[in-house]
Amino acid sequence: MSDAVKIDNITVTYQDGTSPAISGISLSIKEGDFFGLMGPNGGGKSTLIKTIIGSLVPDSGTVEVLGRNPANSLEGVSYVPQFADVSRRFPLSVREVAVSGLLRGALHPFHRYGAAEWEAAERALELVGLTELSKRQIGALSGGEFQRLLIARAIVSNPKLLILDEPTASIDPRSREDIFALLGKINEAETTIVMATHDLTVVTSRIKTLACMNHSLVYLGKPEITEELTRHLYGGHVHIVNHADHSVTCLSGEEHSHA
Ligand code: ADP
Repeated sequence: MSDAVKIDNITVTYQDGTSPAISGISLSIKEGDFFGLMGPNGGGKSTLIKTIIGSLVPDSGTVEVLGRNPANSLEGVSYVPQFADVSRRFPLSVREVAVSGLLRGALHPFHRYGAAEWEAAERALELVGLTELSKRQIGALSGGEFQRLLIARAIVSNPKLLILDEPTASIDPRSREDIFALLGKINEAETTIVMATHDLTVVTSRIKTLACMNHSLVYLGKPEITEELTRHLYGGHVHIVNHADHSVTCLSGEEHSHA
């Protein structure tokens, strides 16, 4: 199996940042992997993901995605942004948003899609379980439904690599499990998945490789969360919260006091 993502010793600093957001990161993600990226808030998960999709360029080191520099080409790669970054106020239907995943570049309101494109959108909506809602306006979807729509939009182009940033943040526990099951199904159909999450439920149940980062890489290997790892990631202040649905959340002391 070849590598879908190859990262060699990268350091990334934001323009207004004084110190690097992430540094000294090297890792490879094999084709077919379901790769989970965990770590505390501010640990650099989003920064690493933005570097993998080429929207941030490392100060040093190299990134190769599907054999190419992601800053030049993202062919075969789809990205599901953080839920909170996507507006639901546009007057668009579910099927219009799904089909728009076939557009490279900006969404154009007068673009006309062909029959094959609408069929691809219908297949994607069926896979995520939104066929019944295909004519509904996106503003009238629940959080879980909207997240599934963002995934449908990302897979409509049949990508080799699907990248998601916190797909279950701000979603109720039941919808969360649906999303993980859906991603498992997409991964079984040979799409490589890279997902940032702080949700420990998924770690033991769905992902194949786990990376934990706190500015640098703290752990890379089998998806097992140990006491030592959580201490290392979250310091001495880690609180493990067991939810009624048997999922577990790790909170740092600071987050816990605000929870
Ligand atoms: P995570 O996704 O794990 O919460 P981030 O990648 O968002 O972590 O943040 C990593 C570090 O980079 C943090 O110290 C954060 O403050 C900083 N950072 C994130 N985004 C920006 C930005 N746009 N400009 C400057 N610093 C940023």
